[in-house]
Amino acid sequence: MKDAASSPSKPNTPAWHEETTVLHGDAAILEGSSVVPPIYYSATYRAESAEAFSEMATTPRHHAFYSRYGNPVHEHVETILAQLEGTETALLMGSGMGAISTTILALVSKGDHVIAQQRHYMSTSKLFEEILPRFGVDFTTVDQTDPQAFAAAIRPNTRLIMLETPVNPTLSITDLDAVAAIAKKHNIITVADNTFANSLNQKPHAHGVDVVVHSATKYFGGHHDVTAGAVCCSNALAEKIWSMHTTLGSVLSPMDGWLLLRGLRTLSLRMERINANALAVAQWLEQQPGIERVLYPGLESHPQHTLACRQMKGFGAVIAFSVKGDFEATSRFVSSLKLATQAVSLGGVETLVVHTAAMWAGTMTGAQMETAGIESNTVRMSVGVEHIDDLKADLDAGLSAL
Ligand SMILES: *Cc1c(COP(=O)(O)O)cnc(C)c1O
Repeated sequence: MKDAASSPSKPNTPAWHEETTVLHGDAAILEGSSVVPPIYYSATYRAESAEAFSEMATTPRHHAFYSRYGNPVHEHVETILAQLEGTETALLMGSGMGAISTTILALVSKGDHVIAQQRHYMSTSKLFEEILPRFGVDFTTVDQTDPQAFAAAIRPNTRLIMLETPVNPTLSITDLDAVAAIAKKHNIITVADNTFANSLNQKPHAHGVDVVVHSATKYFGGHHDVTAGAVCCSNALAEKIWSMHTTLGSVLSPMDGWLLLRGLRTLSLRMERINANALAVAQWLEQQPGIERVLYPGLESHPQHTLACRQMKGFGAVIAFSVKGDFEATSRFVSSLKLATQAVSLGGVETLVVHTAAMWAGTMTGAQMETAGIESNTVRMSVGVEHIDDLKADLDAGLSAL
């Protein structure tokens, strides 16, 4: 069975501009007189009659039946996310990895072959390389910057192609149009992790990708306080993924769904500032004598800048740069920053910074790090919404500590 082909998806064209959609895109489902929907802290929901109960129990994705099946506030978030991605619907889960693993497990079976990129979010790579083979699903990884590598890896039993762009830590770009077209020709489902770009900067579905997954922990939540995930796709695929979701149970709590909705209201404001700040920081870093190299899709020096401009509207928060110095000097630089906080994650209001090699030193060998593109002097930064001059001053002070 080939779902992608058998389930034509209607385009979701919102009535408003995105700045308005994030605020009012859920107005049609707002009940009662409160301006903000209440938090539904109920694990189960009352039926008025046996007939009504039967209907609630048998309706897929009912938002007020049982909390593993759905939640009224989650429906608000899902309605907005679907409009931002331009997909028929969206489905919230308890984390980005919950969304990714549930989606993949819903779509592949024993005997299938999948194509993934050589570089993905680490837990996604683990899913393809360590977990799926245990269940009889074979995989090939390819260089994401070469669309023909995807075509060459296709086998008769290839079921799914996993994409992620830009990707950590090199910020390499996958040509969404080219790979989606190749997949369509062979009736293969495409799934894209759009976390690093976010829907406001990049819309994989508009380039032909079937399923778009997100760690909503990042830009959608936007405040480093919520862990959540989302899947955006056609109704037919969402029902299939939801069915797997009710078994795997990566459920988002009522409170976290509500915080996610609150975060979404300011998404376009935050994204505007983040895109502008990150580009300005990247351009500034490139001019500094203490900096060896800066990787950011918005810079002309990025090897795939032209492609990035074609499929991205803005380039997001994440910059990877190398300082002129060894592991210790890089550690000193990162430790001396006062405004940028040393912490993982990205896409929130505060600027975060990570000495990448220090993060992986415990779990990867030097050779593994080299293959993954992690160098001892690489720093990954997620630029927040602080004033640009304060960010530059912080980095400037750090560079003088090199
Ligand atoms: C953070 C992240 C994930 C995982 O999301 P969680 O919400 O932490 O489970 C997946 N993909 C990318 C690209 C990420 O940045």
